[in-house]
Amino acid sequence: LDKSPAAPVLKVALPLPLDRLFDYAAPEIGRGWIGCRVSVPFGHRRLVGVVAAVGAADSEPTRIKAILQRLDAQPLISGELLQTLRWVAGYYHHPLGEVLATALPGPLRGTRPLPQVGETWLLLSATGRRALAEGAARRGSRLAALLARLGEGAQPAAALDMELPGWRDSARLPRARAWFDWREGAMAASADAAAVAGPALNEEQAAALAAVSAAIGSYRGFLLDGVTGSGKTEIYLGAIAQVLAGGRQALVLVPEIALTPQLLRRFRERLPGRVMALHSALADGERARVWLAAARGEAGVVLGTRSAVFTPLPNAGLIVVDEEHDAAFKQADALRYSARDLALVRGRALAVPVLLGSATPSLESLANAEAGRLQRLLLPRRAGAARPPSVRVLDTRGQRLQDGLAPELIDALASRVERREQMLVFRNRRGFAPLLACRACGWHAECERCDAAYTLHRQSRRLHCHHCDRERPVPEACPSCGSHELKPLGHGTERLEESLAQRFPGIPVIRIDRDSTRRRGALDEKLDAARSGDACILVGTQMLAKGHDLPEVTLVAVLNADAGLMRADYRAAERLAQLVIQVAGRAGRADKPGQVMLQTLQPDHPLLHTLLSGGYPAFAREELALRRATGLPPYVHHALVRAEAPDMVALRSFLQAARECAPASAGVQLHGPMPAPSERRAGRWRMQILLESSSRPDLQGLLGEWMPRLRALPQGRRVRWSLDVDPLEAD
Ligand SMILES: [Zn+2]
Ligand SMILES: [Zn+2]
Repeated sequence: LDKSPAAPVLKVALPLPLDRLFDYAAPEIGRGWIGCRVSVPFGHRRLVGVVAAVGAADSEPTRIKAILQRLDAQPLISGELLQTLRWVAGYYHHPLGEVLATALPGPLRGTRPLPQVGETWLLLSATGRRALAEGAARRGSRLAALLARLGEGAQPAAALDMELPGWRDSARLPRARAWFDWREGAMAASADAAAVAGPALNEEQAAALAAVSAAIGSYRGFLLDGVTGSGKTEIYLGAIAQVLAGGRQALVLVPEIALTPQLLRRFRERLPGRVMALHSALADGERARVWLAAARGEAGVVLGTRSAVFTPLPNAGLIVVDEEHDAAFKQADALRYSARDLALVRGRALAVPVLLGSATPSLESLANAEAGRLQRLLLPRRAGAARPPSVRVLDTRGQRLQDGLAPELIDALASRVERREQMLVFRNRRGFAPLLACRACGWHAECERCDAAYTLHRQSRRLHCHHCDRERPVPEACPSCGSHELKPLGHGTERLEESLAQRFPGIPVIRIDRDSTRRRGALDEKLDAARSGDACILVGTQMLAKGHDLPEVTLVAVLNADAGLMRADYRAAERLAQLVIQVAGRAGRADKPGQVMLQTLQPDHPLLHTLLSGGYPAFAREELALRRATGLPPYVHHALVRAEAPDMVALRSFLQAARECAPASAGVQLHGPMPAPSERRAGRWRMQILLESSSRPDLQGLLGEWMPRLRALPQGRRVRWSLDVDPLEAD
């Protein structure tokens, strides 16, 4: 190895919380190394990093070690993606090595050989097609379901694992074995399936699609602002079909795949053999395969969740972000990136159109449209003849609620039970009761490690802190006065399920929340029961507000709409408005008109008034004007330094030192150190410093100078701290 001072070295980004590259020696160093993974010695460890650059050594030549192994002959991350990841590291002030590790699927962060790109596919053989035609499998059996699914075209084994648990056993039954063919090679199987034709587009849809089509081949950002049921997906599918026909790739980001099985199914029907899913429910190896298939240009459409925004797209044609307002696109820890914002950054770098879709666009995107940075495409009508639901506000002040329900709501439910219809009761609180209190002395169960009450979960007989996940048994008696009169206060979904089942025996009550859908496939089973069209009452949290088609629902009840009106977070109003509109959108999609009932203690609240009289657009206009007048995002830019520690003194001394070493900048205001909204969580005290500026360059300039100083503070060793650029949560 050439260890002369002039010899170039590899500049390797390692997955460490250190904002620098590390010099390593290797033979025949040239630009072909950039983007390749290498395994290197680091102290007594062995790490895998990515070569970010080659150049002159910064370290003492004698101290430079040689790499242990080059893991890729060809760069794994290159071109636009590497450039974007560098941008990400700069914008979020996060070490490049950790950014690269975030972008790579798990198996690619290690030294094991790359998984085979060829996915396993299953398709029907000639005998299988005959078996399907003759109905050879027992109706309703898993085997029949498998035959039907494959009748639509070849399916990747990984997709079947998600959709039809246990299908492998069915496929191995002796009498059925010959019905199936296995294939390796991702897209080999696409040819034999016929695409399901889509519905004809209405005038607005056609205009929106034409606008996107005209932009293919260059960057343009679109905000597809369409009411629920207006057929946004048809615009995505139409544009993707054009991109595929041109031999290019499309990336589709959705908030949560488990919550949008219908969307995935629809994509697969319409674009058979072309859609690969990329999300956290996949096994690691499967994710790596999809990622590599995309990197080699073999995946036509990659449909994935937040981290899929880092998919390599050598033949990029289009990027779609569905439900762009959803907070799930923002990562809440480590590298706190916004996949929605990154989609726009990548679209620009790749020179492809980016389509952001929502029935309730984020105020950021609306402001971008207002400023001309996004072109707004409106779909104001529901596709088909479906009428929008009517909304009624139920004033619960001074009312005697029964099991948390107003008398008028109970009547409305009862009449629909009689007509054997479907109803949806929305309560954004899982568990049995949000509070367990003592009637005698007023004590209530509070988490010892957080500023929060325990939620009572009766089925599991536990008190559960939703902030730190701590659990403990339900006490027999009040720990403060010994009384046995402990009473659950308030109604969570578990309690609503129980009381509705008692009140309306003979109609199934289906609860959908994180507790009731933990088991794989449970959510789908519950939704299938709802989609069967049989009468039922659905009870659930915001999981129910996300993208599910429930056309038979004729009544949507929203309980405790107030919770969002009283929170201190300035985004609470926006979230509440989006939630109400999204939940309401579940009702009366087909020819049945839907009714929405909102239970509130503040019927005169201006937000509710605007939302109900003018809909989401009117609300958004008012809220944007308010944000502009009061100097809040999206009209100013925020960054938040959060810190936490078990020791309050250590915490204060770190943030004080941080504040003191902050460079002065006329364009940036610093606020704090101040306590976080939840001052204590999981036994740690929490404080923060908020930075505010109307100029992104000013804010970025300050952070660029400040972050290295912050990392060097000795007080930082006794606290956990992080930076959040463009925070979504105030906490
Ligand atoms: Zn007591
Ligand atoms: Zn807790």
